Amino acid sequence: MENRLPLIYVASIGRSGSTLLESRLGQMPGVATVGELHLLPHEALSPERPCACGNLVTNCPVWSEIIREFGLSGREEMAPSLRMFREQHNAGRTLRPMELVRMLIKGVSRRNLRYAQNTLEILEMYSSLLARDALRPVILVDSSKDPYRLHALLKSGLFDMTVVHVWRNPTAYLFAVSKRFIRGNESPGALDIRRIVYSVRQVLAWNVQNAVILLAARSVPADRRLSLAYEDYVLDLDESVTSVLECTSSNVALRLKNEGSTVPTHTVAGNPTRYRSQEIVVDDAWRRELEPGYSLLAKVLGAPVFWFLRRGRNAQ
Ligand SMILES: [Zn+2]
Repeated sequence: MENRLPLIYVASIGRSGSTLLESRLGQMPGVATVGELHLLPHEALSPERPCACGNLVTNCPVWSEIIREFGLSGREEMAPSLRMFREQHNAGRTLRPMELVRMLIKGVSRRNLRYAQNTLEILEMYSSLLARDALRPVILVDSSKDPYRLHALLKSGLFDMTVVHVWRNPTAYLFAVSKRFIRGNESPGALDIRRIVYSVRQVLAWNVQNAVILLAARSVPADRRLSLAYEDYVLDLDESVTSVLECTSSNVALRLKNEGSTVPTHTVAGNPTRYRSQEIVVDDAWRRELEPGYSLLAKVLGAPVFWFLRRGRNAQ
């Protein structure tokens, strides 16, 4: 009898449309998305953060109870904290050498196991709170995106996991993170050392994050992981959502098929506007607006990992 908690983990460096996929998954019967769960301790301390239900996270009927129960807004917080791999609200470290070593060896460290157990306790309480108001979800979606968190949850063996790796090509990614330079550029073509250094760092981070996701997810059976390129899945989001749900374990997939009701959405980092259904247009402004020099820089520096990602997609 399977007693691990069914969980879909969305892994990504971000800026790849992962929120779009996550919100569409959350609209499917029996599926509940928790958003970027590892941000919860940060959000508990910043009163202006909204949940997808329209309340502030600190006032949301689900998250406020969880924050209280697990002491997330005070000194008595669980250890290790959910923010172990997310030091700041908007950033976590890209390179963690000790964790990379752990990915290559068998077994799980005591700290990572405890971290996964804490996550499990929170997710179980989340399911119970949804069951109180509506119905218990069949499966949860965690779109924390971070590969080190993914690794800790996977190795713990506590979850019945499906992993979805969402990515964009390095040029589109560089464009997405460079908008402040592009907008403020009064003399295009001028040599801007600050922007070159920034761009190199961003593309290297793109390489590292995607490579670490590939490394962390390699222990997942091939039929339980999916690699989704933005340009592919945005054109047929429904088809992609179906393939994600088909990647769940057979008993979960069957229960999802028979489930008729949707579950309310309460998400961390879940600004309601991001979850509103809107017409989907493929965002390809990077093709026109990113200057050729930067485009080339992203293509060259991102080539090795991009090759692996495309190979993985073609193999599916
Ligand atoms: Zn809520």
